Amino acid sequence: MEKSAGIYVAGHRGMVGSAIVRALEAKEYAKIIKRASKELDLRRQEHVERFFADEMPEYVFLCAAKVGGIIANSAYPADFMYDNMMIQMNVIHEAEKTGVKKLMLLGSSCIYPRMAPQPMPERCLLTGELEKTNEAYALAKISGLKYCCCLNTQYGTDYISVMPANLYGPNDNYHPQHSHVLPALIRRFHEAKDRDAKKVTVWGTGKPLREFLYVDDLASACIFLMQNYGQSDLGNETVNVGTGKEVTIGELAELIKKVVGFEGEIDFDASKPDGTPRKLLDVRKLAKLGWRYKTELEEGIRLAYRDFLQGAGRVER
Ligand code: GDP
Repeated sequence: MEKSAGIYVAGHRGMVGSAIVRALEAKEYAKIIKRASKELDLRRQEHVERFFADEMPEYVFLCAAKVGGIIANSAYPADFMYDNMMIQMNVIHEAEKTGVKKLMLLGSSCIYPRMAPQPMPERCLLTGELEKTNEAYALAKISGLKYCCCLNTQYGTDYISVMPANLYGPNDNYHPQHSHVLPALIRRFHEAKDRDAKKVTVWGTGKPLREFLYVDDLASACIFLMQNYGQSDLGNETVNVGTGKEVTIGELAELIKKVVGFEGEIDFDASKPDGTPRKLLDVRKLAKLGWRYKTELEEGIRLAYRDFLQGAGRVER
């Protein structure tokens, strides 16, 4: 990726897109192309067609997506499927038509089967049933990934995809119901401390295991892979990006409680869904390519909490 190349970061206002923009700017990439969703609705094919014809980007990071936590995914499956399918098909298709040299699709570890072997290697894709609470989103992401593979096979493009663990960090969504667990608990513990509450409720049993990756580490991996990895290296397979470490939701809640400085009790609400019991990524492929994460979970939670305090209220979507 040349420093003067036109690089389109789709979804630059989201947590992942903004982290990739920060990382590209730090590395002095000069021509980063951005469009807010109000200026360019990626679900509209003719708008996307016009944008690519006008801007002719050479590289694309496809981070634009409709995302949300376990409740949002269960409540709005149609929106999650439609928005993500449309965004991906339009962007990837126009990229190929206008000769984009390389494209990276951002996905999620929920594309793998609910009962996949742990840790989950890239090759376990489509070997079993998906977790029901995020099936629509996962199907959309799998379609995007496979569409890249189809283009690579049919047209010889070099379009790759990455599947990160559960992400967190600056610009996260702190919505009380629709967000993911880590930002949701930062907010809940913070508000409980403010109110001098005696307890905080954590959804589910606290037993599911999750792997968390600080978003700036993901951005670093994305740029590394854009430069050092091509689809032919691994036979059209995606690449997992994570830490290879997991914690229970109960342990995560304890860590957040400590960072925020809340002194009351934790209560588990087992009437809320647990989701998939475990989703640890096998990150050996990425390690072999020469990349490793930097930010440990407790340090990352401190950084995320600082971001929350600086922008509290601003980031609710
Ligand atoms: P998932 O990894 O796709 O299941 O997405 P989430 O980040 O939404 O949820 C992860 C786990 O955290 C699930 O077991 C949830 O039940 C649990 N959890 C506990 N408290 C919360 C909360 O306040 N919000 C969310 N989203 N999840 C929570």
